[in-house]
Amino acid sequence: MQRETTTARAAGSRTRGSKVHSTRIEPLRRRLGERLVLPEHAAYEEARRVWNGTVDKRPAMIAFCTGPREVMEAVTFARGRELPVSVRSGGHNVAGNSVCEGGLVIDLSRMKGIDVDPERRIARARAGLNLGKFDAATRAFGLATTMGVNGDTGIAGLTLGGGIGRLGRKHGLTCDNLLSVELVSAEGRLLEASATEHPDLFWGVRGGGGNFGIVTGFEYRLHPVGPTVLGGSLLFGREQLRDALRFYRDFASRAPHELSADAALATGPGGEPVLSISVCYAGPVEEGARVLQPLREFGAPLDDGIGPVTYLDLQSRGDAVFPRGRRYYWKAQFLKDIGDAAVDALIERFAKAPSPSSSAVLQQVGGAIARVPGAESPYANRDAAWDCFPVAIWDHPAADEANMRWAREFWDAMRPFATGGVYANNLGDEGDERVRAAYGPSYARLQAVKDKYDPDNVFRLNQNVKPTAAAHRPGPEETE
Ligand SMILES: Cc1cc2nc3c(=O)[nH]c(=O)nc-3n(C[C@H](O)[C@H](O)[C@H](O)COP(=O)(O)OP(=O)(O)OC[C@H]3O[C@@H](n4cnc5c(N)ncnc54)[C@H](O)[C@@H]3O)c2cc1C
Repeated sequence: MQRETTTARAAGSRTRGSKVHSTRIEPLRRRLGERLVLPEHAAYEEARRVWNGTVDKRPAMIAFCTGPREVMEAVTFARGRELPVSVRSGGHNVAGNSVCEGGLVIDLSRMKGIDVDPERRIARARAGLNLGKFDAATRAFGLATTMGVNGDTGIAGLTLGGGIGRLGRKHGLTCDNLLSVELVSAEGRLLEASATEHPDLFWGVRGGGGNFGIVTGFEYRLHPVGPTVLGGSLLFGREQLRDALRFYRDFASRAPHELSADAALATGPGGEPVLSISVCYAGPVEEGARVLQPLREFGAPLDDGIGPVTYLDLQSRGDAVFPRGRRYYWKAQFLKDIGDAAVDALIERFAKAPSPSSSAVLQQVGGAIARVPGAESPYANRDAAWDCFPVAIWDHPAADEANMRWAREFWDAMRPFATGGVYANNLGDEGDERVRAAYGPSYARLQAVKDKYDPDNVFRLNQNVKPTAAAHRPGPEETE
């Protein structure tokens, strides 16, 4: 066989001044063929893109893996050449952590298998599956587990950081329903982690993100859901924003755990602010009708779109709001309650949004999420009641600064009402202090797991848990 050596550089490295050291790529290319995408390939431009259109990174190469063996080889390859590694499954991370400048992107998006065992109520899914496909596969058996609210989101990033969704208040976070993972370690070994195998690692992956390895497969506990649930949205107009938001707060705070009720301030078709309250009652429809009656009888909503709906349809209702390729920015924090001053701040700050596509979201948590003892997983902030975040959405790069500034100022205005905690999966590049705010008291224990499974911080392009200095083994260039 002809021996070929190629040099891979970050595309555009001359303009960016980020020349990547020469790298012999032959072993990986032999294994992946055209699935190893380099800057000179026609597929590169598309391959380096992620969901958020503001992310414009130029990796040295992108490895589209189709199974654990290829992931193992990619990790070993990158380590041997000291290439930075980023891991991409659904590509939905808002900060674009799944792509890197000048390194290797290990992409799992082609690993989409799922196997449902209806008797044992278990689903085994490959890491590249998105949650719309996951929901569709489990629904065929009248089963589901907590997943997020946008069908295009990857199950991998979502699960590893926690996983908030419509079933969370009844069945806990996605990571609370995780039974085991298959993972490629920083040494390129394939490990199983569960309550009985590598239990420390299993603890770490239930909220600790991609810090400990590349998960290639997930096993989840499923629950009977629906198939028809009571769900949909109520819409209130400008005159009722304040009163409806206050009523929503009181109603949602006392709601049973079967109900999840999210709220969002958005812009109506005439440019006026509106409040949308989106609900899902994960129990019998008639019971849900009784529970939701006070909310539906409040005020004079512009629209009442609540009714019996299949859980699957409800799960895909918000998909059109977040298409791939638009420009997005958000900054999140948890709230325990929403006092009247917080209601006023929400309305006042939302009114300043420069883009009519933007919204201000209150995603309800609590319920079963709060009942899980803190030490059981690294997901902290279980006592929060809402995840609160401005979602800036726009299209033109010239408007980047104005939209990001609006979101940051919104966040600053809500800060006095917040717990100080944040959801790791809604963190951007906000620094080490905010990462610690996401993991809370779990951080030290996460560091111990990091020391054991990734002491050299191979997996660092994430909400990073830093290994302790004692665990780090210096590379050859550091010992010279
Ligand atoms: C439109 C939209 C709606 C959302 N709604 C919700 C919601 O309702 N509930 C909720 O909880 N979250 C929600 N999120 C946040 C979401 O959970 C995170 O963005 C999550 O990171 C997405 O996972 P992904 O696989 O698509 O991410 P990617 O961008 O592919 O990966 C993000 C990070 O996760 C890690 N990672 C990914 N795959 C692996 C793997 N196989 N092994 C190890 N590490 C890995 C890596 O560190 C990577 O940088 C939403 C995000 C978006 C964009």
